[in-house]
Amino acid sequence: MRLVLLGPPGSGKGTQAVRLKEHLQVPHISTGDLLRAEVAAGSALGREASAVMARGELVSDEILLGMLESRFSRDDTKGGFILDGYPRNLAQADALNTLLERIGQPMDAAVQLDVPSELLVERIAGRAQAEGRADDTPESVRTRLKVYSDQTAPVVDFFRQRGKLSVVDGVGSLDEVFTRIISALQPVPAVG
Ligand code: AMP
Repeated sequence: MRLVLLGPPGSGKGTQAVRLKEHLQVPHISTGDLLRAEVAAGSALGREASAVMARGELVSDEILLGMLESRFSRDDTKGGFILDGYPRNLAQADALNTLLERIGQPMDAAVQLDVPSELLVERIAGRAQAEGRADDTPESVRTRLKVYSDQTAPVVDFFRQRGKLSVVDGVGSLDEVFTRIISALQPVPAVG
């Protein structure tokens, strides 16, 4: 299963991806985690990305595509993957499509987690206390939510137009949302 998880910051993508990874037995590829690893390692890429990430803006499409190409070249992605945090704009959605077609592994499905914005702010505030992420400051959170609505929301339509999108209610317990995602991923039985 090749799956994209979509949803604003705080929608629970990362948490659900961890569960889905166990269930589907495929790797979880989080571009945020890949970038944070580069920052922690102090690589040239990490040094370039860290200030942009702290502000809550998007790191360049070139950097992201390079990182993804190298991740997809690893054998563990041959049986599928869960992509979390990418694509974040239409250019990335196109680039992903092209890349996956080229390696003969087209996307199977995209799941959008739908969560009202008041709840997002509350959830991010909770996470900020628990994890202390550098980009969970109020100003960065505002920027990330705005980047999502301006640049990432159109990606939802990209997958909808290709018949790949399921929208899942992201309000509820971890188990409830997980069960909804799994049922959204079941193939619809052919009629007749
Ligand atoms: P996340 O953990 O997915 O919330 O990502 C944290 C930060 O990493 C984002 O606010 C961006 O600065 C950067 N980032 C992650 N994924 C992408 C992406 N696909 N394109 C650009 N920047 C990204």
